[in-house]
Amino acid sequence: QVVTRFAPSPTGFLHIGGARTALFNWLYARGRGGKFLLRIEDTDRERSTPEATAAILQGMEWLGLDHDGDVTSQFEGAARHAEVAQQLLAEGKAYKCFATQDEIAAFREQAKAEGKSTLFRSPWRDADPTSHPDAPFAIRIKAPQDGITVIKDQVQGDVTIRNDQLDDMILLRSDGTPVYMLAVVVDDHDMGVTHVIRGDDHLNNAARQMMIYEAMGWNVPVWAHIPLIHGPDGKKLSKRHGALGAQEYQAMGYPAAGMRNYLARLGWSHGDDEFFTDSQAKEWFDLDGIGKSPARFDLKKLENLCGQHAAISDDAALRHEIEGYLAAAGLPLLTQTQSGDLERAMYCLKDRARTFPELLEKAHFVLTERPIVPDEKAAKALASVSDGILEELTPQLQNASWSRSELEEALNSFAEARGLKFGKLAGPLRAALAGRAVTPSVFDMMLVLGQDETLARLSEAAK
Ligand code: GLU
Repeated sequence: QVVTRFAPSPTGFLHIGGARTALFNWLYARGRGGKFLLRIEDTDRERSTPEATAAILQGMEWLGLDHDGDVTSQFEGAARHAEVAQQLLAEGKAYKCFATQDEIAAFREQAKAEGKSTLFRSPWRDADPTSHPDAPFAIRIKAPQDGITVIKDQVQGDVTIRNDQLDDMILLRSDGTPVYMLAVVVDDHDMGVTHVIRGDDHLNNAARQMMIYEAMGWNVPVWAHIPLIHGPDGKKLSKRHGALGAQEYQAMGYPAAGMRNYLARLGWSHGDDEFFTDSQAKEWFDLDGIGKSPARFDLKKLENLCGQHAAISDDAALRHEIEGYLAAAGLPLLTQTQSGDLERAMYCLKDRARTFPELLEKAHFVLTERPIVPDEKAAKALASVSDGILEELTPQLQNASWSRSELEEALNSFAEARGLKFGKLAGPLRAALAGRAVTPSVFDMMLVLGQDETLARLSEAAK
């Protein structure tokens, strides 16, 4: 069974790159009936905060990236990590190193002066274990000193590291705390992780982590190190390219489905498919489709996909998501009536709205109450027809049986009788009904508002 994991360090918000890593792991597992686990890598006590963990969880929830089982804390596994270090020590695959910080610094300085490698070579590696001093020690792994290590990476290909470039890394510090590199390997092994999909900034760690797998005789997971995300200018994504936090996109009103689609395409491709549903993504996602070069973040593409997803979304789900957006953005929430009205109108709002602010702008007609205050463009449209037109229209609508076809018939014949093009009439009608120049179709607005409200707005605008 496939088991993947997302292993963020809780030192800040959920970065867009982290969200993509989580998504790739989620898609890979979900498409294969596997498990997707979440582990919080909180061993750095100084930089890890509960707020950051909460932000990461919220971001994942927004994106719909549900994980299996409990969220685990790496820090809580410290005793188990130490146990593995002790086991390697007992098996002679690790050793006690009594070198002090000063000794290590002096070693490095001398090596530098002699033009040699500054990788620390501990004299304790081959020392007689019976003659150890009674002093603090670190546990170091006995790294292979010749030959090569090959990281068989599904994205990067075979990456070869010369073993003489690996040092006897510390597993357990002299204060008894395990190092991060050990914790990752032990956790991944204990959690049964089969595939490690993560940023390629961890590629070098993989070589060191493999030493531990090999020393323990554990199966090495499948590696897939994905290139980082770049900005449109090809430079590493940074603040000056725009928002970096996944949740900032929620607060800007991008639908989560569009965001998922976009993030999936960020560094992974499936032929020419740009737009796809979650179930297609789960079915199609594979490691072969991940590109070797960094993907560039492109807001236009994101917006375009968001628009397409909004258009096919379920109305109730969309309403629910919009309420989440308003809360995330710190905007006034909808009343119960507004919320119901929004859902009823959704069918004519969700087409061609790329973001929720755009959709809510179209929804203005149904969320607002009389008196309708026309904006500048709407006021102009109202002024563009001769007085009395809206009043004259009223009797025709009073007798109409509020169906689309009858409304079309009534408005078209009215326009014709007045020698007006329909477009000439539509502008003032939009203005009267919505106070806006850009709205859903006049018929949709009338149907959503109902006969009484429509007539009330027309008569008000006619005054
Ligand atoms: N905690 C690491 C990070 O946030 C990820 C480590 C891993 O995926 O192995 O960058």
